[in-house]
Amino acid sequence: MIVILQPQADRNSDEFRALLAALDARPDITTRVHEVVGRQQTLTEIYLLGDTASLDQAEIESLPGVDRVVRISREYRIIGRHRDDRRPAGFEYNGIQFDQEELHVFPGLCAVDTRAHVETMLRALREHGVQCTRMGAYKPRTSPYAFQGHGRECLPWVFELAGKYGIRVIAMEITHEDHITEIREALEQTGNPTGVMLQIGTRNTQNFELLKSAGRQREFPVLLKRGFGITLEESLHAAEYLASEGNARIVFALRGMKTNLGDPHRNLVDFSHVPVVRRLTRLPVCIDPSHSVGTRDRGPEGLLEIQHATAQGIVAGANMVLVDFHPDPATALVDGPQALTLAELPGFLEDVAIVREAWERRTRLAKPQSPV
Ligand code: PEP
Ligand code: MN
Repeated sequence: MIVILQPQADRNSDEFRALLAALDARPDITTRVHEVVGRQQTLTEIYLLGDTASLDQAEIESLPGVDRVVRISREYRIIGRHRDDRRPAGFEYNGIQFDQEELHVFPGLCAVDTRAHVETMLRALREHGVQCTRMGAYKPRTSPYAFQGHGRECLPWVFELAGKYGIRVIAMEITHEDHITEIREALEQTGNPTGVMLQIGTRNTQNFELLKSAGRQREFPVLLKRGFGITLEESLHAAEYLASEGNARIVFALRGMKTNLGDPHRNLVDFSHVPVVRRLTRLPVCIDPSHSVGTRDRGPEGLLEIQHATAQGIVAGANMVLVDFHPDPATALVDGPQALTLAELPGFLEDVAIVREAWERRTRLAKPQSPV
């Protein structure tokens, strides 16, 4: 059960202390306080854990300081979309709003290689009014002999260039909790010219210690990828790990499932789960068509299969697209075969706009349903 306090609730007030004490005193109930920082206001929520079935919702709603009560109807207590749950969802980060309504495209380099490539990429994004990108500095690689990314060494110049070209958010994978500190320090050192969304990759979806570290810090939002060989439910529990540690600024990403039945694509595209994640949780949903499809093959009409996968995700309500581009894919150190070229950027963005309009028209046809 979630007890949502009135918006002006002060955690240092006598009223708050009395309420918490009253809830704590119920038999077999423990409490956990969460702060939800929204666009207009910060909401305080008290999670009641334990034997909540015996509690009287109306009675708790009548306690001083309580705005309303939501009964938890899903296992995912914090990220879940519960019955009669009208809590605001999503978050703002560095001037960009992320929620289940918005759509943001993050085109960029799978892996940072040269300064010239980063600058060419970012210049192209500015020319097309794109304020978000992806830049990999720490790369999890199958072979220990493959390029592992430039790591902390490239961060200052990547952040400076991002600031120069008006990039507000960079999705950047971390594979160890130390990377959070390195990113924080490099941002401070360069005067915070941009923002970073910490990406937890598919190989680390169930790295619980990494999840806890990313969940304990409140500075950076987290892009959590679905595990490539686990169920959706297991991956959503991983997202709940982040939230339960205190950071609910999460975007959940689908990136395809590892199975040979996905051949000839790199992974079996799982974007039909976009509406499922939107239904089960209040998280914005990202799709990664590049790591799903993994090739530059085209249909006979001339569209890239990566574009088709992108369209499938957007037409079903995706809120973010993480997509690999490279100024010169032939020399890319990681994932060149799936990178789109800068010449393909305008067409890609136009295609996204067409499909997004189709999604908007589809939703106008539909009647909103409350979750069950
Ligand atoms: C990536 O986005 O660069 C990446 C490695 O993705 P994934 O974790 O989905 O394989
Ligand atoms: Mn990659």
